[in-house]
Amino acid sequence: MEFAFTEREEMLRKAVREFAESEIPPKMEKMEETGEFPVELMKPMAQVGITGIITPPEFGGVGMGYLARNIVLEELGRVCAAFPMSMQVHHMACAALSDFGTDEQKKKYLPPLAAGETFGTVGVTDPAGGSDVIGMKCTAELKGDTYIINGRKCFITNSHLSDFWIMVAKTGEGAKGLSAFIIDKGTPGAKLGRKENKFGLRGANTGEWVFDNCEVPKKNLLGAEGQGLTVGLKTISETGRTGMAAVGLGILQAVYEEAAKFANERVLYGKPIATLQAIQFHMAEIYTQLDICRLLNYRVNWMKDQNMRCDTETSMAKYYTCNAAVEAAKKAIEIHGSYGIMREYAIQRLFRDAMVTVPAGGTAEIAKAGIGRTALAPFKK
Ligand SMILES: Cc1cc2nc3c(=O)[nH]c(=O)nc-3n(C[C@H](O)[C@H](O)[C@H](O)COP(=O)(O)OP(=O)(O)OC[C@H]3O[C@@H](n4cnc5c(N)ncnc54)[C@H](O)[C@@H]3O)c2cc1C
Repeated sequence: MEFAFTEREEMLRKAVREFAESEIPPKMEKMEETGEFPVELMKPMAQVGITGIITPPEFGGVGMGYLARNIVLEELGRVCAAFPMSMQVHHMACAALSDFGTDEQKKKYLPPLAAGETFGTVGVTDPAGGSDVIGMKCTAELKGDTYIINGRKCFITNSHLSDFWIMVAKTGEGAKGLSAFIIDKGTPGAKLGRKENKFGLRGANTGEWVFDNCEVPKKNLLGAEGQGLTVGLKTISETGRTGMAAVGLGILQAVYEEAAKFANERVLYGKPIATLQAIQFHMAEIYTQLDICRLLNYRVNWMKDQNMRCDTETSMAKYYTCNAAVEAAKKAIEIHGSYGIMREYAIQRLFRDAMVTVPAGGTAEIAKAGIGRTALAPFKK
C-alpha cells in the first residue's frame, strides 16, 4: 500500500494552492455579499488545469483523473468552498459527456468546458423529486424528431452561468422512464427561474430552470432514451459525491487551520488557550477527523481512477466528510468563544458553508441507506 502522491500531483497541489491563495481572497467579500460567482476567474482556473482536470486531453483537458481532482477541490475549498462547489458540478457535466456523449457531443461541448469558456451544470433535482429521483415531474414527450419538455429543475449549481444545460426528464414510467438531454441556452421555452439566496456557499450560483414547451431535437439526447437514471445516478454518485466530499474536506482543513491559529493567538490567564487541555482535546478531535476524512477521500478517488466499483465508498466519504466538517466547525466556533460568531472571523462562514454541503449531492440518510444495504448483504439469510 502506497500513500505518496506523484511528483505531478504534488506540483498540481502547489499550483492550485498558489492560485487559490492569491486570486480568490480579493473576490470573497463581494461573493458573500452578492452571491455571485466571479466568472472572470474561469480562464485563469483553466490555465492551472482546474476546469479540465478529468477531461481527456483529446478533448482539451488535462486528463489527470479523480485523485488529482480531489487535490484541486480540496485546495480551492481550503480558501473558499464556493469555488470547489461550482467546479465539482462543472466536472459532473464533463463526466456525463465523457461517459455518455456521442463523438459529436464530446467535440462540441467538452473543449469549451476544459478551456473555462463555459460552465458545466447538471440538473436532476426537481421540486417533486429530490431524493426520490424517479418521482420527478419534469416531462419530455417525443413528437416526430423533437422532444417537448415541460416542468422545472431546482437547486441547480451553475444554473445561471452556463451556455448549455444537461438535465434529466421523464420520457416514460419507472426506472427506465427517464432520459437525459443537452439543452443549449436560448432554446425557445428554456428559461432561467429564480436564483437561490443561500446562507452558505454563497458565491456558488444555485438556481432554477423552467421548461415551457421547450423543443429539443432528438440528437440532443445524452445517452439513449430511457438511460436517464443511469446517466444521473452514475454522474451524481461517482463525480458528484466524490466532489462534495472534497468540498467538505477543504472546509475541514480550513476549520483546523483557523482553530489552531486562534488557539495559539488568544491569551487567557497569561498564556495562549492552546495550553489548556480542554482546547487540546477539541483540537485532537478536529485533527483526527481531518485525517480520517482525507483517507476516505483519497481512497475512493484512487478506486475511481482504477475503474473499481466504489458507490458504497463514495457514499461513506460524502456523508462522513460533510458531517465531520459541520461538527468540526461547531467545535472550532466554541474554541473561538464569542469571536466565533462574529462576521470578521472566517469560522462562522466555514460553519455555514459546511451545513450547505450536507444535502447537496444527496442527503446523509440516502447515503446511509445504501451503505447499510452493503453492510448487511454478506449476512443476508
Ligand atoms: C447547494 C446545493 C447544490 C445543489 N446542486 C445540485 C445540482 O447541481 N444538480 C441537482 O440535480 N441537484 C442539486 N442539488 C439538489 C440536491 O441534490 C437535493 O437537494 C438533495 O438530493 C435532496 O433533495 P431535497 O432537497 O428535495 O430533499 P428531500 O428529498 O425532500 O429530503 C427531505 C428529507 O427526507 C429525507 N429522506 C428522503 N428520502 C429518504 C429515504 N428514502 N430514507 C430516509 N430519509 C429520506 C432526506 O434525507 C431529508 O432529510 C443541490 C442542493 C444544494 C443544497
